[in-house]
Amino acid sequence: MLSRGFDRRDWLKLALATASAGWAPRAAWSQPRLRANPFEMGVASGSPTHDSVVLWTRLAGDLPRGPVAVRWEVAHDEAFARIAQRGEQQAVPELAHSVHAEVAGLEPDRWYFYRFMAGDALSTVGRTRTLPAPDAAPARLRLAYASCQRWEHGYFSAWRHMLRENLDAVLFLGDYIYEYPLAASPVRIPTGWWTLALDDYRARYALYRSEQDLQAMHAACPWFATWDDHEVQNDYAGLVPGDSGPRVPDFAARRAAAYQAFYEHMPVRAAALSEKRVYAQHRFGKLAGIVMLDSRQYRDAQACNPGGKRGSASVDPQACASWEDPKRSLLGAAQEQWLDGVLAQGGATWTVVGQQTLFGQRDFQPGPGRSLWNDGWDGYPAARRRFTESLLKNRVANPVLLGGDVHENWVGHLKADYQRPDSAPIGVEFCGTSITSRSGGNAQIAPVLAENPHFVFADAERKGYGVVEFTPSRLTTTLRVVDDVTKRDTRVDTLATFTVEAGRQRVEAA
Ligand code: FE
Ligand code: CA
Repeated sequence: MLSRGFDRRDWLKLALATASAGWAPRAAWSQPRLRANPFEMGVASGSPTHDSVVLWTRLAGDLPRGPVAVRWEVAHDEAFARIAQRGEQQAVPELAHSVHAEVAGLEPDRWYFYRFMAGDALSTVGRTRTLPAPDAAPARLRLAYASCQRWEHGYFSAWRHMLRENLDAVLFLGDYIYEYPLAASPVRIPTGWWTLALDDYRARYALYRSEQDLQAMHAACPWFATWDDHEVQNDYAGLVPGDSGPRVPDFAARRAAAYQAFYEHMPVRAAALSEKRVYAQHRFGKLAGIVMLDSRQYRDAQACNPGGKRGSASVDPQACASWEDPKRSLLGAAQEQWLDGVLAQGGATWTVVGQQTLFGQRDFQPGPGRSLWNDGWDGYPAARRRFTESLLKNRVANPVLLGGDVHENWVGHLKADYQRPDSAPIGVEFCGTSITSRSGGNAQIAPVLAENPHFVFADAERKGYGVVEFTPSRLTTTLRVVDDVTKRDTRVDTLATFTVEAGRQRVEAA
């Protein structure tokens, strides 16, 4: 495999070489006569700045062994009459014939159309946009946040409904694929077995990407994407594996293969390959800063698992000494320090933090004593405190945390100390449900809400996504839910709508 003996510099070279044209003599490129359209996985764009964006595709089917030349065009119009830029690069087999064109020199705050060509074949047309210039004052920003699309648990119709939300961008917050071979009572059955090696992960991404609803949403606007555990393995933490599925002899190699497959299938920058770095900051003019975090790759293992088992559990934090250990981190020291620097910059009305999971404390035990899930922020209380201290120290304007992972909608207030329910809110939180992945249901939700009054709303049944519209004076969050995830054709409803006035840190039901 290519990864054997490849070091960081080699990866960087390969990523940069394939992300910009002209690293090999033209004669060495193959201009194949392709028997079928190689663009069956569609197109995508992502990680935009005010003057650049990543355009993605991956060739599939009966391909030549070597590199394949792929041309791309960016136009102002859908008919490609007014071309803004064009270029050419190589899809190399070492990267599954994926293409990541990092197109620079675009105009700020503009929508563009793009497409790819290989041989005589033409891709579908994608639509993308650049962000406003850093000093611009945009009137609005519309984002969707989504996560957790387990194939076995249902159809991806949420994406089809999202097409009509008129979005500027999608924040994908983790669990793009699941590594399992099957589920109990599957709605449909995935191809393949447990994903353990590079080819398994590639095939799993190809399966998910065969869904037209998902493809269409990728083609509709740029995405900001990060990962959670299931892109590798349930409940893994740093280089500590979880406990589901077969044990591989070398978990680091499994993780590296999974990270590579993520890069190969997502519209992300070269750093996601060379540095395995997916955390990043973006700027939507003076209206919003957007921070994307990685709470899996650098975290310490979950604390206080009963019997020393791996993975996650509900635990009593009092019964375990390492729970409050200040050295334990969810983001890792380097990312924590980076985040503190980002939060110190300021200059935007809203500070949007896209991260993987529920932030606020969720105590499952009514009355005295606590029962906390050790895989989320609850399991890393010192790290959570450093995060909220950074928000306070840097006087961060209007923090808005967006999350996923729990497969349930949770809406509430950030607190500097979740043990003091009367303390003033320092920000707001919208943790999203899943696209398809199952959850427990609402039977126990009322007592948990009552025990954790910093949350104002929760729903553990409905699947879908959230839409947040930001303006200089307020945000409006709409929780959108599909009627029946087990059917390909299903309608979408609004579950609830909330507003937050800028400067108020208070969630109000609309
Ligand atoms: Fe999930
Ligand atoms: Ca309690």
